[in-house]
Amino acid sequence: MRISRVLQSAFGLEHSVVEGLDFDEEAGAMVLSVRPVARARGRCGRCGRRAPRYDRGHGRRRWRALDLGTIPVFVEADAPRVACSAHGPTVAAVPWARHGAGHTKDFDDQAAWLAVHVSKSAAVELLRIAWRTVGSIVARVGADIDAGVDRLEGLVRIGIDEVSYKRGHRYLTVVVDHDSGRLVWAAPGKEGATLAGFFEALGSQRTARLTHITCDMAPSFAWVLRHYAPDAVRCADPFHVVRWAIDALDVERRRARRAASGQGNVDEAGRIHSAKGPARSLRNARYALWKNPEHLSATQRHQLEWVQRSDPRLYRAYLLKEGLRYCLGCQGDEARHALDRWLAWAKRSRLPAFIDLADKVATHRKEIEATIDSRLSNALVESTNTKIRLLTRVAFGFHGPEPLIALAMLALGGHCPTLPGRNRPTH
Ligand SMILES: [Zn+2]
Repeated sequence: MRISRVLQSAFGLEHSVVEGLDFDEEAGAMVLSVRPVARARGRCGRCGRRAPRYDRGHGRRRWRALDLGTIPVFVEADAPRVACSAHGPTVAAVPWARHGAGHTKDFDDQAAWLAVHVSKSAAVELLRIAWRTVGSIVARVGADIDAGVDRLEGLVRIGIDEVSYKRGHRYLTVVVDHDSGRLVWAAPGKEGATLAGFFEALGSQRTARLTHITCDMAPSFAWVLRHYAPDAVRCADPFHVVRWAIDALDVERRRARRAASGQGNVDEAGRIHSAKGPARSLRNARYALWKNPEHLSATQRHQLEWVQRSDPRLYRAYLLKEGLRYCLGCQGDEARHALDRWLAWAKRSRLPAFIDLADKVATHRKEIEATIDSRLSNALVESTNTKIRLLTRVAFGFHGPEPLIALAMLALGGHCPTLPGRNRPTH
């Protein structure tokens, strides 16, 4: 095998000719001079169609390639412009890099793979580029995958949720496929108009094939679903329904703490400062009240027993929360009966927050029963949501929400590039 063939395959230089090899002392890097083979020349960088030459552009140009052992490598070539009939004067396509990129495709793919699989600091250290640059590479790789993959094909049962990605109430609306477990769509915003964008992209024919949609019962999504997908069964997201119950329980918990602290040093949010005695115990019992009983630690079980003895009203609120959670875990008629019993119990509980909750559950009963019947759990949406929240921390330092969306799509959308030169994903 000739050395130029080795270099070609080592640096992803298909359809190219290696003309020379040099060491740039100043840059401390190896420079490979290359040119595209004749049939890969004279193509528009944006659409790939043949086009007549326009001018020589900005002359020679360099693309960062994968390292050679410990040495950084650049690929260097002419970057002439062509006169594309659709795009006007455009830098000609090169086989080794994406349009407008300063890195080779192999470098891009490796950076994207690292962004998904290793820590931010490890990726930056290994690649010797800024994290923000990793962000633009991820966005570029994502756009490239999107151009070749139709993520919205074959959707039948979907889940919709919103994820906050930045303090100051910045949100992404995300859509997951319940059947493949993949994230299929995400966009900045949590308004109805944001979600409408998804249905516009999906189109009316594919929307008509949707049978079930799980989502929280936010009114901002309700009109969109009525308008675009009136025939799909709307399922309440059990996770959000339990969240309602936890919120109602919190109303009672704050009442109990105010009573325990004698109204003294409680701020508007119900926080007690320098709490002593029962008030402190109530504060400590907060997690015990929120958590699923099967996940309680021994200490938390004791805290719960203490609540049961010292504040029967709060304990009743706790049992109501657990009761609703139980209903959501039942099946068929058993679930329907359990829900009937729970509604009757909540209505006569004399706990205003739970009387309100009973009204809310009754209003959304159809959607809640649809969830129970379809056995669709929003566990998938919830875990996707959790993973995206972790990614938002990884994406901190990226420029704008697009690289975050691209990273989430790479990590959770099922089409992450493999490491260059490998055929199979290595998870
Ligand atoms: Zn073009």
